[in-house]
Amino acid sequence: MRSTRGAFQVASFRGIPIRIHFSLILALPLLAFMFGGVVRQAARLAEVPPELVGGAPVLWGLAVAVGLFASVLLHELAHVVYALRTGGQVRSITLMIVGGVSEVTELPRRHRDEDLMALVGPLTSIGLGALLLAALALLPESRSFSPRFAVSYLAGLNLFLGVFNLVPAFPMDGGRILRGLLAGRLGMVRATRVAATVGKGFALIFFLVGLFTLNPFLFLIALLVLTGAEGEARQVRIRAVLEKLRVEQVMTPRFHGVELDTSVEEALGDLRRARRVALPATEQDQPVGWVALGDLLKVPEPERPRLTVRERVQPAVEVRPGDDAWSAMQRMVEAQPPLLLVLEQGRLVGTVDGNDFNAALLLHMSSEEDRQGGWPRWRQERPA
Ligand SMILES: [Zn+2]
Repeated sequence: MRSTRGAFQVASFRGIPIRIHFSLILALPLLAFMFGGVVRQAARLAEVPPELVGGAPVLWGLAVAVGLFASVLLHELAHVVYALRTGGQVRSITLMIVGGVSEVTELPRRHRDEDLMALVGPLTSIGLGALLLAALALLPESRSFSPRFAVSYLAGLNLFLGVFNLVPAFPMDGGRILRGLLAGRLGMVRATRVAATVGKGFALIFFLVGLFTLNPFLFLIALLVLTGAEGEARQVRIRAVLEKLRVEQVMTPRFHGVELDTSVEEALGDLRRARRVALPATEQDQPVGWVALGDLLKVPEPERPRLTVRERVQPAVEVRPGDDAWSAMQRMVEAQPPLLLVLEQGRLVGTVDGNDFNAALLLHMSSEEDRQGGWPRWRQERPA
């Protein structure tokens, strides 16, 4: 749901921005140096004379690092293409230090498609690894060692990427496949809970292995799996609750708003009396948008009695009383207004804001959890 911070766009694919996280820019020279060291070491082990190594090892290390990130991008694109073909929606693709993250805002509706969407990523990596090995066989038996080694190393990295992502550590691909397999029998909420618990077990294993091998990447992956499992499990529970509720069960009834020719000073008084930081704006009782405390406070104090709220109104994001609360929340996440206007046949009947959603979740989530055997001991997003 949330967007990844600290990333900038470098390209786009079918309108979906492809972004690079700053951590990757920092990691690139480090990886180039690390892979360069591997090239040098391999040459020494293979007893290749230095004059036949072919080019500076660090440059070949850089080539492997760039190749690895291109491979991760292809892995993510496989997920994205499959998601789009089966009715899913993707907001962005971000390449990070520990892999790629595709921000999938809408999953395919069928569980089987979600399984396959998770599976196509690792399969692409394994296929890419096999292709690189085949290319190696076709590569001319040149005298220099480095290009051949770089290709075979990249092949190995892709095979590893494919196999590692199949580990059932939710929210990694393997964990998503596991959840998909369980969802048919347990339902989405419980299947996610089981997959997240298994994922946390793996996070602990990654952490311990990282500790004994002093591998910082495993620490990072352990952390991402841990926070990702919690975040996504929570999100699935929120969705399960809100999908069953209609907007009218969540909204605060409200039939009047701040009229457009009200002065800024009066409107501030209205907000204080209503104890809200935003209220709907109306013109002769016809809803037109909303006014927010922050916008009104920007008007200098001496001008507040004179100026009206007309210039301070933001366009309304409208929902209907019969809409489900989950899609209403999606609209709020996308457009980021402080409140939604609930309209019935063009008339204002209520508003929904963050507090309304929170109250609805508190009131309805507990009963949902009771039916399923008490609050879960653990709670709340997703890496590769
Ligand atoms: Zn993946």
